[in-house]
Amino acid sequence: MSPVIPIRAVATGGCSDAPVLKERGQREVFCGLTGIIWLHRKIQDAFFLVVGSRTCAHLIQSAAGVMIFAEPRFATAIIDERDLAGLADANVELDRVVSRLLARRPEIKLLFLVGSCPSEVIKLDLSRAASRLSAQFTPSVRVLNYSGSGIETTFTQGEDACLASLVPVLPAAADDAKPALMVVGALADVVEDQFARLFKQLGIGPVHFFPPRQANALPTVGPNTRYLLAQPFLADTARALEARGAQRLAAPFPLGEEGTTAWLQAAAGAFDVAPALFESVTAAGRERAGAALARQRQQLAGKRIFFFPDSQLEIPLARFLSRELGMSLVEVGTPYLHRQHLAEELAWLPEGTMLSEGQHVENQLDRCRAERPDIVVCGLGLANPLEAEGLTTKWAIELVFTPIQGYEQAGDLAQLFSRPLVRRMRLAA
Ligand code: SF4
Repeated sequence: MSPVIPIRAVATGGCSDAPVLKERGQREVFCGLTGIIWLHRKIQDAFFLVVGSRTCAHLIQSAAGVMIFAEPRFATAIIDERDLAGLADANVELDRVVSRLLARRPEIKLLFLVGSCPSEVIKLDLSRAASRLSAQFTPSVRVLNYSGSGIETTFTQGEDACLASLVPVLPAAADDAKPALMVVGALADVVEDQFARLFKQLGIGPVHFFPPRQANALPTVGPNTRYLLAQPFLADTARALEARGAQRLAAPFPLGEEGTTAWLQAAAGAFDVAPALFESVTAAGRERAGAALARQRQQLAGKRIFFFPDSQLEIPLARFLSRELGMSLVEVGTPYLHRQHLAEELAWLPEGTMLSEGQHVENQLDRCRAERPDIVVCGLGLANPLEAEGLTTKWAIELVFTPIQGYEQAGDLAQLFSRPLVRRMRLAA
């Protein structure tokens, strides 16, 4: 593995070595197909063709219900009983669907064949299908594949699998290329633009965002690439980038004033930005974020929060809510704990925080009911029953759909937690 470039913050203390309750059992999470909802908005000339069942089609249709006025850039090629019984050649069928789609939609430059539980069950080899179709449609369309299957995955892993499938096709940077920064993980355009402005003012460049907004704007990668993760759920993508020589800049995630500052500081340290320049470029943003958070702190300080494992954003969110808003962490559950990528976050969690990894939903519900926290962060499937029991909930998936990173969004992020609490208080009054 490539070396990690150190930043000022030392990733020890807090919960760095804290014990973690590891659970296995029934889980209540969405599958990786969900990532298509934000990824198809991000890469504007990409199309996501799910090779799956009617259930898969339902899931993305209902999750992306807002697309009724536009021609969506996702669809499902339905595997039906004839395919499952081996009566039809699924590959021939798939080639037919793809040819028809690309003839009708010439604006598509990148096509993802997205695997699902049914395509895995019938062992349809989508990587072979992708190379076959890529050879046929190159150079106008590149065809890649990844799996969004719900078997043993959680919903943000869809983005990880998608980005990891793109890494091998990133152009190689020249050996003598000057160091470049790559920000890895889909961010809302508005957030990306804010970060691009800050990096420019800091004199850091070139800066590439991955995934890009256009398929023909793939960033180069090589030993001179320094990358910053913008999302905590990108383990496979990080591994693939490091295999191509890129070096990770260790940092907490850009949530809240403190997280954003440390994240920017990791880049500033690697690109030799003078401390005085860093202070002056970030001062206004830090101040605005601090003021917005001070208002939210009045609602949130002292409130007890419980995280069910869902988006993999749980640990950075818990750190933000405890350190910047004074919330008390009852339990912080995460589907997977990547100790290396989360080292700076763990060091910032209060000592003694109850951490759990994986899920045994019944056991966790028992713990949650016994604790009666003020607010519970969980998936949609658990939210309604918990609300019916009088608990206040926040849907984890909303945190992935909403722009929450950076200084300008710090107040909005805090509000996502204060709003349900205020609503509950009004209902109780
Ligand atoms: S991929 Fe699997 S879990 Fe996801 S909608 Fe399809 S069948 Fe359900």
